[in-house]
Amino acid sequence: MRVIAIMNQKGGVGKTTTSVNLAAGLARQGRRVCLIDLDPQAHSSLHLGVEAAGSADTIYQVFARARGLDQVRQLISENLWLAPADLDLAATELELVDAQGREFVLRQALEAAHADQNFDYVLMDCPPSLGVLTINALSAAGEVIIPLQPHFFALQGLSRLLETTALVTRRLNRRLRVSGILLCLYETGTRLAADVTEDLMRFLEASDPQSPWAQARVFESRIRRNIKLAEAPSFGQSVFAYAPGSSGAVDYGALVSEVIAAENQFAHRAAA
Ligand code: ADP
Ligand code: MG
Repeated sequence: MRVIAIMNQKGGVGKTTTSVNLAAGLARQGRRVCLIDLDPQAHSSLHLGVEAAGSADTIYQVFARARGLDQVRQLISENLWLAPADLDLAATELELVDAQGREFVLRQALEAAHADQNFDYVLMDCPPSLGVLTINALSAAGEVIIPLQPHFFALQGLSRLLETTALVTRRLNRRLRVSGILLCLYETGTRLAADVTEDLMRFLEASDPQSPWAQARVFESRIRRNIKLAEAPSFGQSVFAYAPGSSGAVDYGALVSEVIAAENQFAHRAAA
C-alpha cells in the first residue's frame, strides 16, 4: 500500500484537481484506491459528486474518534472509494488542540482499517494550511507529492513546506519522503515556467542527501492549463470521465503512468 499526501500550504495550486484525477486514473488502471478529503471546503468530495453536508459519515467523525475509516468511506466507482469531508471538519483543528496523540489520529484510523480494506493507494487531499489536519496526513503518509504552480514566488513557498516535512520526519514519522513535485497550471512555452522549473531542479540537486526530499523528482508529466479540468468538478466527474480526449486527461494519464512506474520503489513504504 502506498499512502500519499497531496500537499501544499498554498491554495489554488492544483492539489484537489491532482488528488481526484490521480485517484480516478489509478482506479482505472485496476488499483484499489481510497481518496481521503482532508479539506473542510470538501472540494474533492464535491468534485466526485458527493455532498456530505448533513450526513454523519465524513472524515470529521473519524477525527472525533466516533467512526472508523471503513465506516465513512463510500464506493464512487470501480476501485475508487472516497472518505468525504464537510465543513464540520473545520472544527477539528480546535477540537484536537489539547488531545493526546492528536498528530496520529489518521494514522491509527488507517492502521485499524487496513486489515479489511486492502487498498493499493491511499491519497490524501490536504487543506491549504500546515495545521493539524495536514500534520495528520504527513504522520500517516509514506510519501508526499507537492503540486506547484510555476511562478516567481513558488520556490520560496516550497522551502517552507519542505522544512515542515523535515520537522515531521524528525518528530513524527521517519518514513516520510517527498517523492515528487508536480508542475500544475503549466504554461507551455513561457519563459517563466521554464526558468522556475530549472531553478527547482537545481534546488533539488543541491539538497542535503539526508533530507526527506533528497530523492524527490520533478515529474516529467506537466499538467497544462486546460479548461476541461476546471469544468469537470461541476459535473461530479474526473477528467477521464468528463473529457477523455482533453489535454487534461492526457496529462493526468501520463502522471498516473509515472506514479505506477515508481511502485517498486515506494510500495514498501506502507503506513500500516
Ligand atoms: P487547490 O486544491 O490546491 O486549492 P485546485 O485543484 O482546487 O487547487 O485548483 C484551483 C482551481 O484551478 C480550480 O478551480 C481548478 O478547477 C482549477 N485548475 C486546477 N488545475 C487546472 C489546470 N491544469 N487547468 C485549468 N484549471 C485548473
Ligand atoms: Mg483543494
